[in-house]
Amino acid sequence: MSHHKVAIIGSGPAGFTAALYASRANLDVTIFEGHQPGGQLTITTEVENYPGFEHGIQGPELMDVMRKQIQRFGAKSVYETVTTLDAGKNSFTLTTDRGVTHHADVVILAMGASAKLLGAKGESEYMGYGVSACATCDGFFFRNQDVIVVGGGDTAMEEANYLTRFCKSVMIVHRREEFRASKIMLDRVRKNEKISFALNTTIDEFKGETLETGMKKMTGVVLRDTKTNETREVPIDGAFVAIGHEPNSKLVHGLVEMDDSGYILTQGKSSYTNVPGIFACGDLQDTVYRQAITAAGSGCMAAIDAERWLESQGH
Ligand code: NDP
Repeated sequence: MSHHKVAIIGSGPAGFTAALYASRANLDVTIFEGHQPGGQLTITTEVENYPGFEHGIQGPELMDVMRKQIQRFGAKSVYETVTTLDAGKNSFTLTTDRGVTHHADVVILAMGASAKLLGAKGESEYMGYGVSACATCDGFFFRNQDVIVVGGGDTAMEEANYLTRFCKSVMIVHRREEFRASKIMLDRVRKNEKISFALNTTIDEFKGETLETGMKKMTGVVLRDTKTNETREVPIDGAFVAIGHEPNSKLVHGLVEMDDSGYILTQGKSSYTNVPGIFACGDLQDTVYRQAITAAGSGCMAAIDAERWLESQGH
């Protein structure tokens, strides 16, 4: 059984930045990296919107650099997933999927959110090679190309509109005729000449090829009309899946206050949760921005809040 001053759960930009600030404050920091060390950025390719990298950087490389940076200041990585978290009187108890028990004086939650995916054939294979779950991150790579956006909510409408800044055409593929999106967003999309709709339509398959360089590339999708069941193949350069996000907050259900969708509620502009000694940062508590850089910024806030809280408790 080991005791840590600061336990950080989750290893995306939020968790790593929290670890950086806490370890540089001379605190004993352990980061539980979980089942996807490095978080969502490890399933992207090029990241061009993270400041400090003039020519961009590969997502997995960025997370590797962040890990090396925190190790320089003594933060330790544990490659286990935290399965239970209990609040005791003076400390927290964490157990992991390996059955190991840890204690911590303070806990920073940084488990992130996951974009929901369709589960269609080829979707994972071409993720980062034509398939994306973030138009803000990847839209720029599809300059003058034809893309689709899947979904009928506000995110899909917002992403479709945004993509018309770069793309030749955008087709919104939605499984029914009614939209969840707000009227104003829908109206904006309907007025945009670059955008067309494929309604009552789902995606059966993402198709692609392997280039001579060995790189994969998505080249089209197989669409299915849900009324007639007819399928058709459409050549397309990019596909943005915008069917919602899910915060990875299951671990703290019943312990920490969250909204109806499972996003952790933090107090005011801080990272304080309703449980003293538990702080939250990154996409886990962000329903609006969900960017690597905003997650990193909130990780910094959580470390500073945690450090001050520890001090106030006489640690
Ligand atoms: P939503 O849950 O609102 O919409 C998800 C969409 O994806 C729905 O149209 C849904 O279809 C579709 N969908 C879900 N699962 C599947 C599936 N397996 N196959 C095909 N389609 C699927 O999520 P959003 O991310 O759009 O929005 C989340 C919240 O964020 C909302 O409250 C929204 O208002 C808000 N938001 C606000 C913005 C703004 O105001 N600027 C911008 C973006 C988001 P169906 O309708 O048939 O269930």
